[in-house]
Parts: sequence; structure tokens; C-alpha cells
Amino acid sequence: MSHLVHRSLRADPPLAVRGEGIYLYDQAGREIIDGSGGAAVACLGHGHPRVIEAIKAQLDTLAYAHTALFSCESAEQLADIMVGHAPGGLTHAYFCSSGSEGNEAAIKLARQYFLEIGQPQRVRFIARRQSYHGNTLGALSAGGNAMRRAPYAPLLSPAFSHVSPCYAYRDREGEESDAQYVARLAAELEAEFQRLGPDTVIGFMAETVVGATLGCVAALPGYFPAMKAVCDRHGALLILDEVMSGMGRCGTLHTWEQEGVTPDIQIVAKGLGGGYQPIGGILVHGRVIEGLNGGSGAFMHGHTYQAHPVACAAAVAVQQVIRDEKLLDNVKAQGALLEQRLVERFGNHRNIGDIRGRGLFWAVEFVTDRASKAPFDPGLKLNERVKQEAFARGLACYPMGGTLDGRRGDHAILAPPYIATPGQIETIVDRFGAAVDAALASVQ
Ligand code: PLP
Repeated sequence: MSHLVHRSLRADPPLAVRGEGIYLYDQAGREIIDGSGGAAVACLGHGHPRVIEAIKAQLDTLAYAHTALFSCESAEQLADIMVGHAPGGLTHAYFCSSGSEGNEAAIKLARQYFLEIGQPQRVRFIARRQSYHGNTLGALSAGGNAMRRAPYAPLLSPAFSHVSPCYAYRDREGEESDAQYVARLAAELEAEFQRLGPDTVIGFMAETVVGATLGCVAALPGYFPAMKAVCDRHGALLILDEVMSGMGRCGTLHTWEQEGVTPDIQIVAKGLGGGYQPIGGILVHGRVIEGLNGGSGAFMHGHTYQAHPVACAAAVAVQQVIRDEKLLDNVKAQGALLEQRLVERFGNHRNIGDIRGRGLFWAVEFVTDRASKAPFDPGLKLNERVKQEAFARGLACYPMGGTLDGRRGDHAILAPPYIATPGQIETIVDRFGAAVDAALASVQ
């Protein structure tokens, strides 16, 4: 047995030894399509020469310099790329090493902002059930993934409370229209502000498109403007977590561009560096920075590896490739094909209740029966079976399930790299379809 702590302590996973384009190869030489880019990470696929060259060049010149004394070119360049044009009024960027660290930074910056502008009574966050913001304790406190929270519940912060996500497939009531459902969710958020005391709330946190916990669930039109109106009414911040759904994954660089709102703080990671280096970060609205500038003039937070030169160099190259190769056009084109093929394959499938997503970020939700939408017994571990059946067919995908809150079924995410070709999309859906049929046959 290996001495490394794997996700399972009982079984050693195969060794991944090489990656090229959308393919990964294990030690036995097996070719696996990286059909979900890991967990929606590998946006450029593997082995992109420009990114590798940029990492090597950075290592040749500067591997590390402590940010207490220095900045570095690659970090400055990455900040320019991300917020130099002030998208939505976001003017500053802070870089760290993961999505969880990004969420922690967002939480602390938001709190500090209110301290600096003379509102120290703001100490609470409202987030959403069935969301995921990371595995560190602050981010886990913000998250509403019941299964991931459960073992650590006694350690989680009571500063976070949770409202419903916008999950029309399961939570819309009867004949409720989109507008009525959105209004009900806005009323729920308003009621939570009132329950907590509106002037004690720092902000509302949400994934723009819910990733791992629900499986590519986008909000209904009008949802985010309605939520932002509630925040604005009470002077609270809107904090959007685009760790999984952002950086082009949904077809625009930032997914909030499709929602008619701009966040006060946005969290990014995964597609920022495409897996070539561990990097995450936050993008911050000018008014939050002004708040700090008018006070202490410093962000009271930091990490040894923040704005790491090599990680930032990798992310610069990834973002330049996405821009130069016009890959967001391909995300839109191949995303449309992926949707079409999934609908053809599963649109009438009795065990697929919902097919949903945006760009190259798609999921199917499994049900025992389309009419009742009843989920499979979590004990059957359908999601694990789908993963294994897909892997056996040369496809890595990202199934999730095992809910403890009984509010959803198993689902599986496909999130191919932005470089995917139409032929590769067809192969992904073919293999995925065969894997789903085999997994379902094994539980029925
Ligand atoms: N936020 C979202 C929406 C995520 O999907 C994830 C990871 O899956 C995280 C935060 C945490 O990111 P990391 O695993 O890089 O810490």
C-alpha cells in the first residue's frame, strides 16, 4: 500500500503519468479522456506548450520572493489581465493557492471592509444550502453541502446562515412562474436579513452556477438582480463564488456577465490556472478597496505563497491562450453540441430527470422515476458506479451524490477542456451514455 493519504485509505488509485490535450495516460498506458477536466479545472487540457514554456521561463528567472517585501512581474501582469479594464467595477485582485483560500480571503476582506467604514456590528453572512465554497473551516461554514459539513459541524462558524438555492427542477412549487419563484426566494433572503438584523449582515454568498453539490444548476433569469436588490437595500455585499463556474467555463469569462449583476467580491480558481499550478484569488470592487484605503490602507490577511510568481506566470499564460486562441467561442460552440447530444441521448431516459448547464459545464441528474423525481437510495452509490463504469470506458467524469439532506439525487458533471473538438464531444457523450446505462443496470 502507498504511504500517501489518498481520497480513500483502502484503495490506491491508478497513477496518472502523462497528459496531452484532452487525454490522460496511466502507468499501464491506458488513454483516458479528461471529460470533466478534473473538477472543471483543466480548461486548456494537458501539456499546453505555451503554458509549460511560461512556467519554465518564470522558474529560470524567479521562483519566489516574499510579498512582505516584493511584488513580481507575473503577479502584476495577472492582476492587469484580470481587472486592468475594471470589469463590472472590479479593480483589484489578490491571488492565493486555491478556491478555499479564495473564499477565506473574501470572507475576511468583506468583514474588514465594514470595520474600516465604521460598521463593526456587521458580523454575519448569508449563504445558500446545497452549495460548496471549499473545505477549510471558514469556507465549509459558508457552504451548505450537508455531507461535507456533517463531520465538522461542531467546528463550523455560527456566523453563517443559509437560505435556499435557486433550484427550479426540484424547488419550484406547483404552477409557480419563474418570476413568482424568484420573488419567493428574494422574500426568503429578505426574511433572513430581518431575522438576523439587517445591519448585522456582511454579505450574501453564492456560486453563480452551483457546481459540485447540485450539478451545474444555473439560476433563473432575474434571480441574481433580485438577490442583489435585497443586499443593496441593507447595505450588504454580494459575493459570488465562480471557482468552478467561472473563467470561461460557462461561455463568458465571468459567469455573472450573464446574470445582470456585478459582484462586490468574486472568487476565482480552477480555470484561472487550468491546473498547471495551484492558484486561486479574489477580484474586488473599487468601492471595497476605497473603504480599506480610507482606513488602515492594508488587507489584514495573507499567505506565504500569495501571488506566487510561478503560479501567476502559469495563469497569465493560460489566460493569454484562452484569449489568443478565441477559446470562449469554442466553449460556446462545443457547449451547444454537448447540450444537443446529451438531450438526444438522455432527453427521454426514464432515469434522467434533468439535463442542465451552460457553456462546457453540463450535468445530468439521476432519478428512479421522472414523474416523482425520487432520488436513488444513496446507499447504492450510483454516482460511484457511474464514475467507475465511465473510467472503464476511458472517460473521466465527475459524478456526485450521497446526499444527507434528501433534497436531490445523484448527478454527474461533464466539463471538457475548452479545446475539445466536435468529434471528442461525440466520443465523450457515447462513452458517458454507455457508462450511465451500465451503472443503472447494476442497481435495478
Ligand atoms: N468553491 C467552489 C464553487 C468549488 O467548486 C470549489 C472546489 O470544488 C471550491 C470553492 C474550493 O476550491 P479548492 O478545492 O481549490 O480549495
